[in-house]
Amino acid sequence: MSKTPVFIGIDMGATHTRLCAIDKEKNIKVINKYKTESIVEPGLVSGLIGVVQRELEEHHLSAERLLIGLPATISKDRTKVLSTPNLSVDQSTFNSLVPTLKHEFNCTVELERDVNLQIAYDTHHLHVEDKLVLGCYLGSGFGFSIWLNGDVFTGAHGVAGELGHIPYGKEGAECGCGNSGCLESLVSGVRLKAAYESQNADYELKDFFNQSYNATFISEFVDNTAKAIATAVNLFDPDIVLLGGGVMDMEGFPFGTLRQQIYKYVRKPLPSEELTLMKATSSSFNGATGAALQALNRK
Ligand SMILES: [Zn+2]
Repeated sequence: MSKTPVFIGIDMGATHTRLCAIDKEKNIKVINKYKTESIVEPGLVSGLIGVVQRELEEHHLSAERLLIGLPATISKDRTKVLSTPNLSVDQSTFNSLVPTLKHEFNCTVELERDVNLQIAYDTHHLHVEDKLVLGCYLGSGFGFSIWLNGDVFTGAHGVAGELGHIPYGKEGAECGCGNSGCLESLVSGVRLKAAYESQNADYELKDFFNQSYNATFISEFVDNTAKAIATAVNLFDPDIVLLGGGVMDMEGFPFGTLRQQIYKYVRKPLPSEELTLMKATSSSFNGATGAALQALNRK
């Protein structure tokens, strides 16, 4: 029996790493998750080789192309990590990933910024691959991604779309990227968590948006989020804006207010009149599936 060629996507998160393998008809052949700790322990590179090797053998598959998603900025040629403020693995280890895996599996290997995989999944899942789409994913940081002409727009150097790091945040606040006053100091899950922790509260973080005494904070937080998104809309004139991420998925998040505020700030009559806001999908396997779709898409 000959092996089925597959396109493999891997999404590396802080706690879990997820893998998805699809054939050229986009049928899912493997979908699985592992503890990131167990991959990093024997060394990131050999850990990943082990996981991919096992899945290929077990399901009788061969790797056609491999794409690995990371919370990092990636070089234009998608082979090197430029900056990883939220990961403890050093850059040189990441940079040996592509050549070693390429040699091991004898196929093209690429890296990709994690939010770019989320938008690849969402545009596929929502059948809007042919539209100009902006993805706004409010998680620990403020993930932003641009989908143009059926692919992610990465700019001249591979780092387009860093909306979370425009200098419209809290004056002087140090940011993990090395600059200060970045937007993420006002609009991010990290900011939300800091506000929660300063309260010594007797409720859980997941109930933050349901507490009436957080009303002032929430109103400012949502207003700043809307201003950032409206700025991006005015710059790109998109068909669709996707709204998602862990913070927007929290119970009680004032989605209606966010929508209203975005429309309030967006330029009239256009792009306001033609703007469509959509909720992004929120399954934990989106990144890995998006990575597999992009591996196929880049063929
Ligand atoms: Zn920054």
